[in-house]
Amino acid sequence: MFYLLILLLQMKLIKQITDLNKAINKEKELGFVPTMGSLHKGHESLIKISKKKCTKTIVSIFINPTQFNNKEDYKTYPRNLNNDLKVLKRLKVDYVYIPTVAQIYKLGKISKISLKKVDKILCAKFRKGHFEGVLNVLNRFMKLISPKIVFMGEKDYQQFFLVKKFIEKKYKCRVYSGKTIRNSNKVALSSRHNLLNSDDLKIAGLITNKLFNLKSLISKNKKKSKNLIKTVKEELIIRFNIKIEYLECRNLINLSTGLHNKPFKLFVSYYLNKVRLIDNF
Ligand code: AMP
Repeated sequence: MFYLLILLLQMKLIKQITDLNKAINKEKELGFVPTMGSLHKGHESLIKISKKKCTKTIVSIFINPTQFNNKEDYKTYPRNLNNDLKVLKRLKVDYVYIPTVAQIYKLGKISKISLKKVDKILCAKFRKGHFEGVLNVLNRFMKLISPKIVFMGEKDYQQFFLVKKFIEKKYKCRVYSGKTIRNSNKVALSSRHNLLNSDDLKIAGLITNKLFNLKSLISKNKKKSKNLIKTVKEELIIRFNIKIEYLECRNLINLSTGLHNKPFKLFVSYYLNKVRLIDNF
């Protein structure tokens, strides 16, 4: 009896679609945390929220090729499966789904996913096809898993915004966001930190600090946002020799640039030592 209980409490590692169907077909309140692995405290916090809100939690680890607009980036994306499984066991996740690329994409073509012109901003402007790839793979996961709630990080705010719009319209499912988890220098944790050295991470800390200050200056004087951003952008480029893709404020209602009377965030994407980092404040 005791051993049976242990067995029932164990995390189920699933690799095949047929096993997935068998394992979860009776689950009515599944929380789903999609990830690309190399798990850190940011992923952990989403899993903990899911465990609180749902009776069972499923985590996927899948490095989705269709969302990479750059082959090299896909090839070098950090992979750390052994450690990921340790983390997920420690967190007592119920199901872990690790499909192959062939398995997910052999499901065939599903209706074409394209972004509206108004959504082709921030990361969508600089990573052509990225969000179409994200929505495509999540659509496939939705059909396979039918979760009640999907949990996504605020760190990738534009992703959360687009996924929520897409999924809540198409499925009987909610998409919740979890707060950005940061390191001791306030840098938003990212799997890509595995590609940086400690000096890079110190620089990321200085940049982050500057951007937190910029956000609070803008909050006090929204009308001056463009000038304030221009000054800080120039300073960061000169001081740290970084490439900034975008640094701009957008409201949280529709991500347009109109800030009047609306909550807003400052969004950034920059390259540090060839590694692309994003954050929002
Ligand atoms: P990824 O593995 O990078 O695809 O991320 C999987 C999920 O974790 C996404 O919903 C991300 O937004 C979320 N996430 C990544 N980094 C963080 C972080 N530092 N804090 C909170 N959530 C995060």
